[in-house]
Amino acid sequence: MSTETADSSSIDRYECRACGYVYEPEKGDSRHQVPQGTAFAELPSEWVCPVCGASKQKFSNIGPTGTPSGFKENLGYGFGVNTLAPGQKNLLIFSVLGLLILLLLSFYGLG
Ligand SMILES: [Zn+2]
Repeated sequence: MSTETADSSSIDRYECRACGYVYEPEKGDSRHQVPQGTAFAELPSEWVCPVCGASKQKFSNIGPTGTPSGFKENLGYGFGVNTLAPGQKNLLIFSVLGLLILLLLSFYGLG
């Protein structure tokens, strides 16, 4: 499932969650005299977003160029459903469907 390699972090892009600016290591940051090819992790801790001034902590790893934006971050969300095995996921969906049907049946039963 994971296609990450040991040195992939050096080309990972980071997106500012405050304004949407994306730091691209292959471009660097000309406004702060950051040379091209500088990984986000190698930026000085006092480095801030060149657009809105947010600190490094406001940035999220969105993966290397070519991956969908926010892909890595989204993996951890979705009520934990994404971490379930496919079988468990189906079980969960059918449990919810069954519950809804039971609710509908009891609703019409009352009427
Ligand atoms: Zn920003």
